[in-house]
Amino acid sequence: ARAEAVGSATGPGRTKDGHPVPLLANIGGPKDVDRALASGAEGVGLFRSEYLFLDREVPLTEEQQIAAYREVLEAFPRVVVRVLDAGADKPLPFLPPAAVEPNPALGERGLRLLRRHPHVLRGQLRALAKAAEGLPADRLRVMAPMVTDAEEARLFTAACREAGLMQAGIMIEVPAAAIRARDIAEEVDFFSLGTNDLAQYVFAVDRQVTSLTRLQDPWRPALLDLMAFAAEAAVGAGKGCGVCGEAAADPVMACVLAGLGVTSLSMSAPSLPLVRAALAAHTLDECRAAAAAARAARTESQARQAARAALPALE
Ligand code: PEP
Ligand code: MG
Repeated sequence: ARAEAVGSATGPGRTKDGHPVPLLANIGGPKDVDRALASGAEGVGLFRSEYLFLDREVPLTEEQQIAAYREVLEAFPRVVVRVLDAGADKPLPFLPPAAVEPNPALGERGLRLLRRHPHVLRGQLRALAKAAEGLPADRLRVMAPMVTDAEEARLFTAACREAGLMQAGIMIEVPAAAIRARDIAEEVDFFSLGTNDLAQYVFAVDRQVTSLTRLQDPWRPALLDLMAFAAEAAVGAGKGCGVCGEAAADPVMACVLAGLGVTSLSMSAPSLPLVRAALAAHTLDECRAAAAAARAARTESQARQAARAALPALE
């Protein structure tokens, strides 16, 4: 039992019955690589590339970008780089929206902003392609933030292909994209559920308004239902569907997400060991039962409690 516990503390993410759920790290740049490796991350599920650019008056040059991407790509067998998710809570001075916006979270941000500044997107994709040169073809996956529909997904995939990047995906963080994931699945290679923004937009609560945190609880059954629906559409279409929002860092939620059919979990590195242990202690069927129990509940606290009760090995 000791060896098993040690194994589950460091090995790849798996349920008790051996169903793989790769455990990946969310990072902001090369400075986070060591910590991710130390916590046993199997790869990077979300490289927030905009973090390289924050607090800078001028963008990184392509050479500087290539060096940063290369360092991360050399450290892990699989890396998902998200193209610049600027705007709203992460404004970049060289990527302004068209006008001052009363509600920046509902304005030009993420892919919307990159469509306004297409040369920035093209430069970033070019840098990514160069950084991946000579590495195995499946190492780099590129992902767009704030995609609303299949048309935007198609444009992003086309831009990736034009740069020679063969794995293009999108974040599901706009409710419309979750609702029509089956259309989008025809345009992309993979999905990642961004629970932070998906909760913000599903519950109509600005994620920066802390007095309303209660309304953004990821255990709310409306969000569980929407995630289940999107994951089913994605996986049903043969596309991977990870989760890279903070919800994945909760060991109980991680089991529920596995039970919903999610194919990988990405989170901040310190959360990986507890999530790994929770998965290793339960079968996929137990995770499915926990997901069903949570979705059958009517409130967030009942959902959390029901999921916990269905996962016997949790304290
Ligand atoms: C999210 O929205 O869930 C997400 C992972 O991206 P960010 O927190 O960077 O917006
Ligand atoms: Mg987001």
